[in-house]
Amino acid sequence: MTHAPYPHLFTPLDLGHVTLPNRVLMGSMHTGLEETGDWNRVAEFYAARARGSVGLMVTGGMAPNPEGGVFPGAAGLYTPADIDNHRVVTGRVHDAGGRIAMQILHAGRYAYGPDCVAPSALKSPISPFPPKELDEAGIEKQVADIATAAARAREAGYDGVEVMGSEGYFLNQFLVTHTNRRTDRWGGSYENRMRLPLEVLRRVRAAVGPDFIVIYRLSMIDLVPGGSTWDEVVQLAREVERAGATMINTGIGWHEARIPTIATSVPRRAFAWVTRKLMGEVAVPVITSNRINTPEVAEAVLAEGCADMVSMARPFLADADFVAKARAGRAAEIAPCIACNQACLDHTFSGKISSCLVNPRACHETGLVYTPAAAPRRVAVVGAGPAGLMAALVAAERGHAVTLFEKSGRLGGQLNLARRIPGKEEFDGLVDWFTTMIDRAGVVLRLSTAPEAAALAEFDAVIVATGVTPRDPGIPGQDGANVLGYAEVLQGAPVGRRVAIVGAGGIGFDVAEFLAHDGPSATLDPALWRQEWGVADPAEARGGLAPGGPRPAPPAREITLLQRKPEKPGRRLGKTTGWIHRAALKMKGVKMLSGVTYERIGPEGLHVSCGAGREGPMLVEADTVVLCAGQEPARGLADNLAAAGVAAHAIGGANVAAELDAKRAIDQGARLAAAL
Ligand code: NAP
Ligand code: SF4
Repeated sequence: MTHAPYPHLFTPLDLGHVTLPNRVLMGSMHTGLEETGDWNRVAEFYAARARGSVGLMVTGGMAPNPEGGVFPGAAGLYTPADIDNHRVVTGRVHDAGGRIAMQILHAGRYAYGPDCVAPSALKSPISPFPPKELDEAGIEKQVADIATAAARAREAGYDGVEVMGSEGYFLNQFLVTHTNRRTDRWGGSYENRMRLPLEVLRRVRAAVGPDFIVIYRLSMIDLVPGGSTWDEVVQLAREVERAGATMINTGIGWHEARIPTIATSVPRRAFAWVTRKLMGEVAVPVITSNRINTPEVAEAVLAEGCADMVSMARPFLADADFVAKARAGRAAEIAPCIACNQACLDHTFSGKISSCLVNPRACHETGLVYTPAAAPRRVAVVGAGPAGLMAALVAAERGHAVTLFEKSGRLGGQLNLARRIPGKEEFDGLVDWFTTMIDRAGVVLRLSTAPEAAALAEFDAVIVATGVTPRDPGIPGQDGANVLGYAEVLQGAPVGRRVAIVGAGGIGFDVAEFLAHDGPSATLDPALWRQEWGVADPAEARGGLAPGGPRPAPPAREITLLQRKPEKPGRRLGKTTGWIHRAALKMKGVKMLSGVTYERIGPEGLHVSCGAGREGPMLVEADTVVLCAGQEPARGLADNLAAAGVAAHAIGGANVAAELDAKRAIDQGARLAAAL
């Protein structure tokens, strides 16, 4: 049977002892669910994705032993008792018609604990713990533990394992001189440095037998100094195949690399060309990954011969039914992963359970359930930003009769500002998805309408999602012709060559990016993006690091970004993406000033003083001053409703503007509507 729009994606993949129904792999993600000890919840997370028809799933990384866990207490398969827990997961996935492989992840020097081990005693830049150098017996223990974990995975009912050999973890650390300074048989020549990963793979294969999927995740472009050459990558891939791998998956960049690899500003399918270089070098199927988030992109990658299979991870947090919807010709209904990391990786790295900005049910499948409404009600939602859109959508899907009012002529609210920032183009897809879903759910739309409180009295429930208004920073001279608000700037108001930005929060950073930029967005131009970040072909430069480093386009303006707090600007941006925003602005020569007091604005620019004592008045020369000083709740309607005695629920920015982002707005909208 052919699937007209995506014929390659829905071509079965014959692995010998088993045939996968399609070419989509759900890549490994650490969700934190296993560590809750609630294995029913873990099972439901994977079963929901199995019901959504993905070809094969890989679990989050499971430690083979305590020293290899990403942090003390990380989930693993180190004792026979763990097997029963994992059986709950595999049983539920198989009942749902799916297949699942367990990733075995030994973190090596990335393990966030004092017992970490590595080929050499070299601390990683992203961990405070120096690893112990393994001796011969220590190495044998690690290999044996990984092989034992594989055997236990089979016993637990998994369809396969993925051996994590990339991203700078333990196996990867043996491969490159950057982390392997050994002079024994495990270090020195490339043959010696490959010995550990290959020994691991041979022992894993011996432990699980021939009729079991073994994926090896191979770092194809390390993006760190001293990384592998392309010849080494090909040599390793061939040996990996000989050692018994069923498939080879692509790893891109070490965690300590200073080049973004999955953030939203990375172009879609930015690294498929790297996987493509391996096609034809090995006979086993090759899987590609990174920034593939729609069926169209996945299909193109396969059609162009970049890989035999496509791995997507975060898109399955955004929508468990990605594959089923693509197969049914309903791709427009797939909730898009916008690669923001805000609810997934940022949570993981803060010790919180992962979820998804666009799908608050992700990893909360058992706790947040959208059941049909027992008694359908007439619901008014005022404001079609992320909070109002999600509330309207969930309420309507549950069977309520929903009317959505929006004072402007379009849906999206502040998302329409975010989508104008170079590098945030994915927000387009989010607005499109809401538009499709609101229509399908039968929500009655009242655009260009701001209802008065009295007009809402006829509804059974009123949700106020009127958003925010910009905070007034009260700086003398801010009424001058050279002063603009961020919304005016993002909507295209003319801005001079020298700019001072008041406020270095998320929006201040975004506005700086917008104004520093000229010409096409590098996110839409992969060659330009590689040049900006210094990514080269690993066949020409070891590790794929361009010899000249990053070569950003010259900035369009001279920009100074200011804040009153004395801390480093951008410290509160996303945990896994803040460094990218800071690095991008640094490359554009944006100056940053902290600990200032805004004294006044004149035609010549912004006058500030510094420090608690307001020392050294100075002028930041600027043709334009842009105000990005945060937000206040737009509560007018909520207050009027309260005065009129109409009960209403305020959500999103209209509720609390501080620290507001789309993640909280959408989550709050979903939870309120789930309970109506
Ligand atoms: P924000 O992150 O709270 O930043 C507000 C900025 O204004 C701060 O730099 C603050 O620094 C300054 N400020 C506050 N009161 C001021 C006053 N009275 N006078 C002058 N300056 C003042 O808010 P935002 O930038 O408006 O962003 C809104 C939300 O959207 C945030 O939660 C943000 O995380 C989110 N967002 C996120 C991203 C992202 O990349 N993840 C991008 C855009 C927006 P000082 O008080 O130190 O001066
Ligand atoms: Fe994708 Fe953002 Fe959801 Fe993570 S939180 S899965 S990056 S949309």
